[in-house]
Amino acid sequence: MNVTFIKNIFSSQKVVVRIAPSPTGLLHLGTARTALFNYLYAKKHNGVFVLRIEDTDKERSTLEYEKDILEGLSWLGITHDTFFKQSERMHVYTDHLKRLIDSGKAYVSKEESTQNPGMFIEVVRLKNKGEVVTFTDEIRGEITFDTTSLGDFVIARSITDPLYHLAVVIDDHEMGITHVIRGEDHISNTPRQILIQRAFGMSEPKYAHIPLILASDRSKMSKRKGSTSITEYRENGYIPEAMLNYMAFLGWNPGTEKEVYTLKELIHDFSLDQVQKGGAVFDILKLNWFNAEHSKKILDSKIQLEVLEKIFPKNKNELAVMTEEVLRKMYDVVIERTGTKDIPTYRSIPESEFNYFFADPQIETKISWKEEGSETTKKNLTVAIEKLRVLSEYEFTKEAVKEALWSYAEEVGKGSLLWPIRVALSGKEKSPDPFTLAELLGKDETLKRIEHAQKNL
Ligand code: GLU
Repeated sequence: MNVTFIKNIFSSQKVVVRIAPSPTGLLHLGTARTALFNYLYAKKHNGVFVLRIEDTDKERSTLEYEKDILEGLSWLGITHDTFFKQSERMHVYTDHLKRLIDSGKAYVSKEESTQNPGMFIEVVRLKNKGEVVTFTDEIRGEITFDTTSLGDFVIARSITDPLYHLAVVIDDHEMGITHVIRGEDHISNTPRQILIQRAFGMSEPKYAHIPLILASDRSKMSKRKGSTSITEYRENGYIPEAMLNYMAFLGWNPGTEKEVYTLKELIHDFSLDQVQKGGAVFDILKLNWFNAEHSKKILDSKIQLEVLEKIFPKNKNELAVMTEEVLRKMYDVVIERTGTKDIPTYRSIPESEFNYFFADPQIETKISWKEEGSETTKKNLTVAIEKLRVLSEYEFTKEAVKEALWSYAEEVGKGSLLWPIRVALSGKEKSPDPFTLAELLGKDETLKRIEHAQKNL
């Protein structure tokens, strides 16, 4: 699309923002978070969100990375209003460069290449008067730089090969970008870009530099310290609703207790005023919690089945024959578990942890409560069987099961009754409570398992 055309359409818009990823790697968590902040800001102000692929570095940019970035953003639901690719706009940069040179603001300089000593190249340098540049950052307030030390810095490798700073400035201007919202690591780039704007006589956009995402030890987030690729999170079973919600909280918070947000609610509540200055520490457990919270809201049985198939790849056949109702109950139990401390991703749930869903439980722990003897346990299980037998199989809910057992549990001691039932149903030292398990297994299976355990005592 023609930029002038775009500019005309959008000139009436108060807010035009952009995400400008370089396709030199997979879609990074930090880029996705910056994209989200820009998107939220645009939507909140009825503005325009531009996606611009900054692929002027031909050696490091690849189409695979570009694809990953586009797919990742679209999976997250961060949709752009318009799209540009810098490699398709090279003539625009060359035209601008020529103008700058003609006006005496930049010059061609013949220099020995640092990469290939002995070879001479013609770079383009900006004439830098060494002004003091001050800009007001929407998040950090006034920032001042003395640009003397930058010297006449290089803005293009040749008249047809612009460097990042030049292309960014030209594009931001041509696309009518009103707010540059980007990572704090770009603060030091801003004075150079302002000098280039001044050389062209272009107006300055507003700047908002958002805090970096830090690893738990407050060092820069890197692959070694946790996953930084959105695709990897996606493959590990995280859902976009949770990623969006968590990313929004990486550097922003609404100033209230509310944490679980839909995208629509984020748009409503987001503001740059509430963006913090300090680094945003990444906490995988918090992300897991968000993931569990959002996953609980998924009611579509097809998606629930897909999630369960991902977690239990070896039990696809068993899952295929389960009723929607059983799947839903199983989903709830498993999702609850993924939100707890020791489960880093869906995939790290140990295979054996829920094996009692699919087969008779193997009793892996002592069935009797504490020091109690098997006679007591046997008697308690017998009573439990009697009490559960009279319940209707159609109303075999956790509430009904609890009500049927509760007064007897209080009479003999809760552990004395509920521990053996739970172990009879799951075989495990740790598992969901017996009421939840009974509801999940249904009346017949629950009674079968308790009877089996009772006989084997
Ligand atoms: N292309 C730059 C990057 O990927 C971003 C440029 C900007 O936001 O100004 O880091």
